[in-house]
Order: sequence, then C-alpha cells, then structure tokens
Amino acid sequence: MTKPAIHFATNEATNRPHSWPNLSGGHEPARRRAVVVGGSLAGLMSALALSRVGLQVTVLERSDRKSRTGAALEVSEGLLERLTGRHTKAVANILPTGAQAWADVHAGLRSVAQADPNICIRSPVRVACADQDERGAWAVAENGEVVTGDIVVGADGHASVVRQHVAPESPDAKFAGYLIWLGLVDEHLIRSRPWPSNLAILYERDYCLNAYYLPGPGGTVAAGKRRIGWGWYDARQTDLLRASGCLVGNVVQRTLRPDKIPRSTFEDLAAEARDIWPDPWREAILHCIERREVIGTPVAEYMPKRLIRGRVCLVGDAAHVPSPMTGRGFAASALDALALAEALERNLPGHGVADALCRYETKRLEAARDLVLSGQSFSRSFAPR
Ligand SMILES: Cc1cc2nc3c(=O)[nH]c(=O)nc-3n(C[C@H](O)[C@H](O)[C@H](O)COP(=O)(O)OP(=O)(O)OC[C@H]3O[C@@H](n4cnc5c(N)ncnc54)[C@H](O)[C@@H]3O)c2cc1C
Repeated sequence: MTKPAIHFATNEATNRPHSWPNLSGGHEPARRRAVVVGGSLAGLMSALALSRVGLQVTVLERSDRKSRTGAALEVSEGLLERLTGRHTKAVANILPTGAQAWADVHAGLRSVAQADPNICIRSPVRVACADQDERGAWAVAENGEVVTGDIVVGADGHASVVRQHVAPESPDAKFAGYLIWLGLVDEHLIRSRPWPSNLAILYERDYCLNAYYLPGPGGTVAAGKRRIGWGWYDARQTDLLRASGCLVGNVVQRTLRPDKIPRSTFEDLAAEARDIWPDPWREAILHCIERREVIGTPVAEYMPKRLIRGRVCLVGDAAHVPSPMTGRGFAASALDALALAEALERNLPGHGVADALCRYETKRLEAARDLVLSGQSFSRSFAPR
C-alpha cells in the first residue's frame, strides 16, 4: 500500500503553505493528519498511538543513527498493546516487559511503526521549524520542503526545534552540570562473579554509578548470557565538554563520542574505576574503556511551562527533560503518547484539534513538572552550582 504523505512548497516570504490540500474529495470528512517531528522513542510511540485513534501520521527523522550505548529503559506491562490497541502475543513479544536496552526498545517500536499502513517514516529529514495558521500546522525541513497536517507533534528531543514555536520565551534545555559515561558489554566477556541483584546504584567520591543487567541476544536473561550496562555520573568534565563543542554556554549540543574523548581522560577513568568500583562492574567498565566503547552524554534539564500552542504540541524530551537519574523519561514519554491519542480520540464533533491539545496539556503538564523537579533535586546535590 502506498503511504500517503502530503508535501508541498511554501511561500518563502511567510513560510506558509501556498495552498491546503483537500483530502476529502468533497464527500467525506478528511482523515486527520499528524506530522511527528523526531522518530525516536517518543516520536514512534506517539505515531503508534495516533494511528490507533485513526490519524494518518508522517514521522520526520533527521538521522538513521542509533546509539545511547548502555542506557536501560523500563518497559511497563502491556505498553505496546496499549499504544497500538492490538492485544496479541506477537505484539507482546516485540517489546517484553522489564528492563531493556535502549536500542532494543527503539528497534521494536520502529518495526511496528514501519509495518503500520497509517504511518510513514521519512528519514533523513531535518526539520528547521514548525508553524501553524487557523487551518493547519506544518513542519519546514531544512531543504525547504513543507509537510502539513492538522497537528504537529514535536518529539525531537531535548534540543527541540518545535519547542521554539511552542515556548519561544524559554526554548532551551539547560546543562545540569554533569555528564554520564555510558557503556555496554556482553556478560560472557566478564570473568568476575555476578552481582547478586539486577541493579546497583553506588556512590563513591563525587561519583554515582548505575549498573545493571540487560537481556542478551534473543531476550535471554540467563546468567552469563546477559549484557551489562553502566552509567557513571561525573560532574568533573565541564571543561572537556566545552572544549569539544558538546556544550556551548549552558546549552547541550551533543554527546561526546569515543573519538573525541582524550586518551588522558580514558586513563583517568580507568584509574578511578580500578580504585573505587567493585567487580563485576569494575571489570565491565575497564573492558569498555580498553575498547573505547564509551560515550559521554551531557545531562540537560527542561522544566515546561506549557506543552502546547494551538495545533502544535510537545511530547517526550521535547516537552520535559528530567535527569536520567529519575529513570522515568521513557515512561513519561509513553504517557504523553497515550494521553495525546486519548485527547484526540475524544474530540467532540465541532471542536477543533486545539481543544483536544488543551486536554492533553491539562492531563500531562503537572505530572511532567513534578518529574523534572524530582530530577533537579538530585542534580542540585550532585553538581551544586
Ligand atoms: C544518557 C541518558 C540515559 C537515560 N536513561 C534513562 C533511563 O534509565 N530510563 C528512562 O526512562 N529514561 C532514560 N533516559 C531518557 C529517555 O531515553 C528519554 O526520555 C526517552 O527516550 C524519550 O526520548 P525522546 O524520543 O523524546 O527524545 P530523543 O531520544 O532525544 O529523540 C529525539 C529524536 O528526534 C530527532 N530529531 C531531533 N531534532 C530533529 C529535527 N530538527 N528534525 C528531525 N528530527 C529531529 C533525533 O534525531 C531523535 O531521533 C535517558 C536519557 C539519556 C540522555
């Protein structure tokens, strides 16, 4: 089946579409269309939930790269079933409940979204801005292409361009004063005895370590066949982040990749790890350092004052950026997607999509603010400013 996606040029002076398409053919009400900017976890979950309630969704994603080495996400029971409305064993197997590797969750969501005839994922498309008028909303790609819909959903992460339209008075997430070193290694490569529980949260010197077991290939959780993930919170790297361009002013630009991490930093981390962290986490960390399979993600935070403006809304990290220490960013993104779809599903005849987006904001704003606040209390104690 050909997936419909409406793309047409703008009037350069106003950045508005030249004309609006009439999909209804004049007989039936046109199917509502959503443009989702960002095809990562929040974007894919929103696309699935919106498709379930009958919208035709175009997802615009700037990159094909997957990473977040080591980050673990807690998948709640029946999540994919609630997003898609399909309650089959096959669906449950795609996204098993419990702690999962970021890349596995992304791959599962993406495979389901790609198979959905109501969802068109376009990549690479980098969106430059979003806008709206009384008839619709649109995203403008950097190449000038315009993609229109009844609503635009900003799912474009902590450095969201859609947020610039929704909250122009406070568009940027701010650096929280620390980064997380992240690594992932197959458990069979580690000789030390396993840790007695699945998760360890350890504090030493000025550091915090979150280390955990993740399912191995095929979803196995048998000891020896799992993967070990770790996230090492470190508030001493601000100079390196600035020198590498990952941090400009107090705005996070990007993750520090292994080729940009100086040898001396790797050596310092290895020396610290040998001194302070217990096995098997120490061995796992040293393994990743030796192979230069470590990234450093500067932590950003964003406290939202609003989630919507007219026909444009925000979900996931575009909407709210809590410290990863909360361990709740993914769950919050899932709740955003479900609440957004529910608000649109319940739209009464004669009420515009803007009313539905107001209901979405009412449902999610306070909870999102509470989540960011809880992360800030960790950040303030971990990296006092
Ligand atoms: C280091 C780290 C560890 C974490 N650990 C946890 C954890 O343990 N538990 C938990 O629940 N949460 C955790 N989180 C948070 C969680 O990963 C996110 O909250 C969740 O994945 C939602 O992310 P997102 O999809 O909103 O944003 P992102 O994952 O940032 O995705 C945004 C997407 O938008 C795309 N994009 C950006 N700009 C544009 C543009 N202009 N045009 C087109 N596409 C664009 C990007 O390429 C990307 O694919 C962690 C986050 C980080 C950074």
